[in-house]
Amino acid sequence: MEKKEIAERCPYVKKCGACHIGEKSYEEELAEKKKWVVDSIGKYCDKINDVAGMYYPYHYRNKVHAVFGRRLDKGKDEIIAGTYAEGTHTIIPIKDCLIEDAQASAIIQTVTGLVRSFGLWVYNEDTGRGLMRHVLVRKGTSTKQIMVVLVTASPEFPHKNHFVEKLRELHPEITTIVQNINGKQTTMVLGDRNKTLYGQGYIEDVLLGLRFRISPGSFYQVNSAQTQVLYKRAIQAAGLTGTETVIDAYCGIGTIGMCMHAKAGRVIGIELNEQAVKDAKANAKRNNLEHMHFVAADATEYMTHMSQKGERVDVIVMDPPRSGSTEAFVKAAASLRPGKVIYVSCNPETLGRDLGWFAGEGYIAGEAWPVDMFGFTANVEVVCSLHRKKSCPLPSGG
Ligand code: SAH
Repeated sequence: MEKKEIAERCPYVKKCGACHIGEKSYEEELAEKKKWVVDSIGKYCDKINDVAGMYYPYHYRNKVHAVFGRRLDKGKDEIIAGTYAEGTHTIIPIKDCLIEDAQASAIIQTVTGLVRSFGLWVYNEDTGRGLMRHVLVRKGTSTKQIMVVLVTASPEFPHKNHFVEKLRELHPEITTIVQNINGKQTTMVLGDRNKTLYGQGYIEDVLLGLRFRISPGSFYQVNSAQTQVLYKRAIQAAGLTGTETVIDAYCGIGTIGMCMHAKAGRVIGIELNEQAVKDAKANAKRNNLEHMHFVAADATEYMTHMSQKGERVDVIVMDPPRSGSTEAFVKAAASLRPGKVIYVSCNPETLGRDLGWFAGEGYIAGEAWPVDMFGFTANVEVVCSLHRKKSCPLPSGG
C-alpha cells in the first residue's frame, strides 16, 4: 500500500498513536528493526539474522480491544468505542484499523451500535458509574472461531439475553460470548470473573498442527502466522534429540513447550496466571501429550525449588513479558545447569540487559533470529540461543 492510500484509509494514524503506518515502507521498517536488535544485543551475539517479515503486514492482529466512552458531537451526546489516543484518555473511535482483524473490527462496530440501541450505560472512569467498559474480540486464525468479551462494571446486565441474541443474529460467525466483570477502578481491561453467555467460553486455534484453547484472560500471541515462524526458529535452535528435559518458562497456555514436545523427552511449563495454566493443562490433554506437565508458579521460585532438590534440565526456553526477566530468574535458571537456553523476547532492550546477566552466569549468546510479529509498531520479537560455557563452574550448592 502506498503512503497516500494508507492516509486515505486510516484518517486516525496521527491521532491514535498505536501504529506508525504510512510513515515508511514495510521494508524500511524491517531494516530499522534489525538495527535496533543489533544495537541492543549485537555485543553479545555471534550472528544476527535479518528480520523475518510478514507476507501481508495488514489486519494481522487476532485480538482487538475497544473502550467505551461518550463524546459530544455537534451538540449531540453519543456513545463511542475506540482506543485511547497515545498518552491520553481521549477515545478515538476507530472503524477500520489497518492492523487489526477486519471481522473483529466489524463486530466491535455492531456491539457499539447495540449498546446505543439498548440504551445501556457506558462506564465513566472518573465517577466509577455506568456499566459497559470494554469490548474485546479474539479470533482463532486457523479455526475461525470468534470470542466476544463484554467487560461490565457489575454483574447486572439489563436485557442480556436479548442483546446476545441480536449480536448472534447480526454476526453468526461468533462462536462464544463472555461477560467479564471488572468493578475495579483500574487500567486493566479484564476483571477476575467471567460468565459465559453463549458457547464454550473460550476459542481454539491451531499452531504447528496442535490445537490450543484460549480463555478470555490467557495470553496468546496476537499474530498467529508469524508465531509459527517464531516457534519454528525456537524449536530449531533448541536442537532437541528426543531425550531432553525442557523447561518452558513464562509458558502462557503452553504453546511453545507443546510445539517442542514431540522432539523432547519431557517438558515442564511454568506460568503465573492460573487461568492460562488451566488452558495449558486442557491443551496438553486434547493433544494427547503425555510427557507435558504444567505448574502454576513464579518461574524463579519453581526453578529454585527444583535446583534445591538436585534436579537438572537440558534446555530452558523462556519467553518473558516486555519488561524482560530478572537477575534472580537468570541465577535460578543457571542453577539447573541447562546446556542451552532459548530466549524468546519481545523487547530487544530488556533482552540485551538479560544477556548480560546470563554472561555473568557463564552462558554465551550465539545466533539471533528477529521475527516481525507487529508490523507498523515499534516492536519486534527475537529468538536468541545461548549455551553454557564448557569451563563454567558449578554454582554454589550445585
Ligand atoms: N510463551 C507464551 C506466553 C508468553 S507471554 C506464548 O508464546 O504464548 C509471558 C507470560 O509470562 C504471560 O503468560 C505471563 O502471565 C507470564 N509470567 C509473567 N511473570 C511470570 C513469572 N514470574 N513466572 C511465570 N510466569 C510469568
